[in-house]
Amino acid sequence: MTVRTAVVTGITGQDGHYLTELLLAEGVRVHGITRSLAHAAEVRPEVTMHEAALTRTDAVAALFDDIEPDMVFHLAGMSSVAASWADPVQATEVNALTTAAILDACLRTQDRTGEQITVVNASSQEIFAGSPGGVDTETTAVAPTSPYGAGKALGHHLCQIYRARGLQAANAILYSHESPRRPERFVTRKITKAVARIAAGRQAGLTLGDVSVQRDWGWAPDYVDAMYAMAVRGVGDDYVVATGQAHSIADFVAIAFAAAGISDWQDRVVTDESLIRPADRPAMVGDATKAWDLLNWKPTKSFHEIVVSMVDSDLLQERDA
Ligand code: NDP
Repeated sequence: MTVRTAVVTGITGQDGHYLTELLLAEGVRVHGITRSLAHAAEVRPEVTMHEAALTRTDAVAALFDDIEPDMVFHLAGMSSVAASWADPVQATEVNALTTAAILDACLRTQDRTGEQITVVNASSQEIFAGSPGGVDTETTAVAPTSPYGAGKALGHHLCQIYRARGLQAANAILYSHESPRRPERFVTRKITKAVARIAAGRQAGLTLGDVSVQRDWGWAPDYVDAMYAMAVRGVGDDYVVATGQAHSIADFVAIAFAAAGISDWQDRVVTDESLIRPADRPAMVGDATKAWDLLNWKPTKSFHEIVVSMVDSDLLQERDA
């Protein structure tokens, strides 16, 4: 049997970690790309790592010519909306221009070898404007409201443009997905870490922005399964990957404290107006019917189970600290 080869950008991140586990389990040879090999300490030793600036088209093209991948997962990106407001130029560069370089390199290699390359691009719910009570599908108008979303929207369009040129390029329109590997700069992990530290007596309280904001939160390993299924299907297409259920940050906080056995938590949570983001949408929910039908994909963990898994993991880390 021929061994398939995958390239994963952003391999050092949350999704890169779970995708690596999945690809290796499926017998796929994995190459990872990072901005700096210093970030790659936790990447599995079976992975061949490469250091590259993903905006350098020629360097990326030379790498792909060498590797000749069957599938490419473009996960590298500035993944935080808040960070994109702090550095909109870098957000646009990373979320849009790297996608142009990756797609161009794939098409050039595919044209040279005659072998099909399937690309899965990590697009985002943030390409949509979101609305209370509204549910987004693959045909919802692209109308981003942040530099993060604008960069992802350009990457999303580029993917469709290169698809029209003959590349099997899929957009995975990912809604928020969490795990114990989510960095603490994201509100979900900030909450579960704080709850675990409060339970251990190492932290007094938790400061949050607008806790009425609602998001459609899924389990990161499930979302990686969906991206792999897109690559295996091998058809350039757009797919929403979401649970279809919205929950508020306040719901998340309540479940997290309950999971740690803390009932008197209300006075420990304070609101800081400065943490409320400009143009933050009140609610975002996705309809993943297409992924359910075409990829046979379904989320495996409920919102409650996701929060409890993250708190349990952080309680263990605090206990061992
Ligand atoms: P992470 O932030 O955990 O990982 C992203 C990776 O991208 C980093 O490990 C980093 O790798 C690379 N990266 C970060 N900044 C830059 C930069 N300035 N230049 C080049 N590379 C950079 O993200 P996730 O794993 O959670 O998400 C994967 C992808 O899915 C991202 O593109 C994200 O925007 C998108 N997405 C994620 C969602 C989520 O809820 N997790 C929701 C919607 C979309 P290194 O430093 O090694 O280069």
